[in-house]
Amino acid sequence: MTVDPQVIIVGSGPAGVSAAWPLVRAGVRVLMLDAATGPVAASPAAESAAAFRADPERWRYQFGGDLAGLAAGGDRSPKFATPLARSVGADYAEALGLQTRGFFAAGALARGGLSTLWGALAAEPPVSDLAEFPGGAAGMRPCFDAVRARIGVPEPTAAAITSEAARRVFARLQGRIAVEPAPNAVLDAPRDGRLACAHTGLCLWGCSRRAIYDAADELPLLRRFATFAYRPGHRVTRLYADGDRHGLEVEAGGARLTFRAGTVLLAAGTIATAALALPRLGLAGRPAPLLTNPAAATAFVVPGLIGAALPDQSFSLGQLFYRLPVEESGIPPWAAAGVLYGGDALPLELIASRLPLSRPVALRLARALAPALVMATCYLPGGFSRNRITVGEGSVSIEGETPPATRRRLRDAVRDLTRAIVPAALPLPGATSILEPGADAHYAGVLPMGGAGPFSSGDLGEIGKGLHVVDGAGLPSLSSTHPTLTIMANATRIGERVAGRVGGTA
Ligand SMILES: Cc1cc2nc3c(=O)[nH]c(=O)nc-3n(C[C@H](O)[C@H](O)[C@H](O)COP(=O)(O)OP(=O)(O)OC[C@H]3O[C@@H](n4cnc5c(N)ncnc54)[C@H](O)[C@@H]3O)c2cc1C
Repeated sequence: MTVDPQVIIVGSGPAGVSAAWPLVRAGVRVLMLDAATGPVAASPAAESAAAFRADPERWRYQFGGDLAGLAAGGDRSPKFATPLARSVGADYAEALGLQTRGFFAAGALARGGLSTLWGALAAEPPVSDLAEFPGGAAGMRPCFDAVRARIGVPEPTAAAITSEAARRVFARLQGRIAVEPAPNAVLDAPRDGRLACAHTGLCLWGCSRRAIYDAADELPLLRRFATFAYRPGHRVTRLYADGDRHGLEVEAGGARLTFRAGTVLLAAGTIATAALALPRLGLAGRPAPLLTNPAAATAFVVPGLIGAALPDQSFSLGQLFYRLPVEESGIPPWAAAGVLYGGDALPLELIASRLPLSRPVALRLARALAPALVMATCYLPGGFSRNRITVGEGSVSIEGETPPATRRRLRDAVRDLTRAIVPAALPLPGATSILEPGADAHYAGVLPMGGAGPFSSGDLGEIGKGLHVVDGAGLPSLSSTHPTLTIMANATRIGERVAGRVGGTA
């Protein structure tokens, strides 16, 4: 492609590639700039969970050669302890000049962004949670279908539940709460060079079969279009007006470059997009709201499975997805939502590190507990979060807080989930924790579409003529349902409309 793009997309994560597809299909000249630098950590390639457990070198994959992963636990997804997570997140805080107080900010300057390590739970939120979206749920519906068809989200069936403990919990929950086998963006049949899931249980460390959707896997497909160009190692540091076009200052391998285009789509991930957009709007130094899903984690044990054999085939992403509707006086009805995971695919070291026992005893107990364990997350809608992001000169600061009423709602939701699960499984004493704001890694709503006030964006996430926010930053609300499918559907919607405006010239 010539160096005269009609549209520049910043970022190659789920939002960036979703916006790109309708544009390149319409023949629009697209340049994707991505801060991604080196390769990400390699994924283990064992034939089965049992083979991986027997591999004397597995600790390198699990925790890194320096064992740094063992220290990276805390009340966060075990994914953050993996060498993969540490490799994709390495330069993020430094590049943004990021400072946080009471907030955990995950980010990835990587091909595919955070989808290199996401949990792949790809559920569509209830219609009521899309009411504030431009065009409402009806406007979004075809885009959800298009994204699912593109990335591969098989129809969830009970046969996909690999953990016996999760299977028993599913049997108990059916008819009591809204629960289904987890809708995961994980292939059950090969497509586009990716292989079907073989249930090796190694999902936490990255899938060597590429069965788990990762936006990076779409880049070679997009690059087949003559009108699409991808430049990794190009970090956008500033946006400016350049006549009737948009200018982008870019740092690339120590050099300072500039790019220009009439249309720019910001898909750098909510926090990095805010870092670029707020100064461009003259809003540097002004604290803006940043939505996250207040979250809790808990664990259950199925007594009859304690000491059972660990399975050969397993799966460490979500097994079940549930919703708990809540009626509360004074506010509209809302729902908590979350995922149930089997413990049989988790590293025993991670379970043992949470037991208040000596290491050899804790490891033996972890081995006995693993097949019986079911872990649960519980998310509340973003409206119950209270975080602020402030962008300064080369700096981003985020402050997070979980208000007492939000803590109470989280505890109540975990209590209701527990009541529904017992006696199929029993709560593990002391296992419930309320996560630090941001630990969910579901960031949204800094420049909400269709809102009013200085921080809002237009129906197409537009914050200036031809300058669009297409990632989570533009969401007008954050459902308790995991956000990425919604982010991708919305980016697709905006990409389609922008393609109509810009028109292809190929
Ligand atoms: C452990 C974990 C588990 C998760 N599980 C789930 C789940 O199960 N379901 C779900 O829905 N969501 C999940 N998420 C959230 C999900 O990963 C994000 O919502 C999603 O990746 C956001 O996509 P994005 O394209 O907006 O941004 P990102 O994925 O953050 O991608 C941003 C892109 O922009 C690039 N970039 C950043 N700054 C610049 C810059 N200045 N210049 C140029 N390029 C730049 C990056 O290199 C990257 O390519 C999870 C996240 C984590 C961390």
